Amino acid sequence: MTATRTQDVAATIRQVELLEEAGADVIRIAVDNPKDVAALAEIRRARPRANLSIDLQENYRLAERVAPFVQKLRYNPGHLHHIEREKPIHEKVRYLVNVARAHGCAMRIGVNAGSVDPAKLAKYAHDHSITPMVESALDHCAMLDDLGFDQYCVSLKDSDPNKVIDANVLFADARPDVPLHLGVTEAGMPPDGVIKTRVAFEQLITRGIGDTIRVSLTLPFENKGEEVTIGRRILDDIAGGRFRSVPRFEQHGMNIISCPSCSRVENEAFIDLAQNVRSMTEYAKEHDITIAVMGCRVNGPGETDDADLGMWCAPSFVNLKRGPQTIGQFTYDEILGRLRVELDKLIEEKTVSSRV
Ligand code: SF4
Repeated sequence: MTATRTQDVAATIRQVELLEEAGADVIRIAVDNPKDVAALAEIRRARPRANLSIDLQENYRLAERVAPFVQKLRYNPGHLHHIEREKPIHEKVRYLVNVARAHGCAMRIGVNAGSVDPAKLAKYAHDHSITPMVESALDHCAMLDDLGFDQYCVSLKDSDPNKVIDANVLFADARPDVPLHLGVTEAGMPPDGVIKTRVAFEQLITRGIGDTIRVSLTLPFENKGEEVTIGRRILDDIAGGRFRSVPRFEQHGMNIISCPSCSRVENEAFIDLAQNVRSMTEYAKEHDITIAVMGCRVNGPGETDDADLGMWCAPSFVNLKRGPQTIGQFTYDEILGRLRVELDKLIEEKTVSSRV
């Protein structure tokens, strides 16, 4: 997936080139507003042979404007309620199917742990996060089936590889006929992000689950092709019987999750921030603590809720959270110092409670 702002046409074309050169079969670009659509048209003109999938973020009505330029439309069931709230979801899905049909596009139902349909989430306890994801995917498959549309695949992504495994196994059991696109979202930086992804892919692909993959890593823009080469290396290793994973991914010590960036990223400085968080927290690497670093205000707030400490990045400041509670907003210069204060507090509390 391109990590740059889609409206930065030159930078996004460069991303497409890098991904194509690295061997990507499908390249996803996010589109959120009419200016992104205009940029997409230019990107398509510059890369006429690229196999493009479009990420319809909150604004599903853009589908009819982007479909002429792309091969696939990806929608997130959890985002369909954002606009035209009074309109039933199945009508929105019908609209998407009609657009896809009219333009010969495939579709992906892309379910993400951080943005699951609120109606599904409300039915289950917070620590029961896989069921709402799988249920949401199954419901949307049923809607597409009812509409007689079969050119679709599903993805069920989480930043925890164990949840990715469990959700995909559950889904594949219920719908073995539906192709699955695999990925660990916000896996973070190499090498941890690669290990998490490898564990999930090894566990799923060896069970015959998965048809396409995406590796999501926080990388400098110019290195984005590594997502593809790493993904192909993992596939080669699996095909060659070279496995590295244990049956479950056991997370011990500091766990830093960070998003791979996309067109919504609000300040590229977040990539440096993620790397600096890793260096700064080195002193606490033995503690079982999860810190999340996310690139934007749209998915950042939700995707950081499950972390012990979370940051989501705005253009000129960073929002710091502890679990779902907001601590405050800090400049990019201030944030590391403030994170350290909160981390020390957390370690102290955990140490005290372990003594009780
Ligand atoms: S958190 Fe925001 S910037 Fe990062 S990948 Fe998700 S949508 Fe894109």
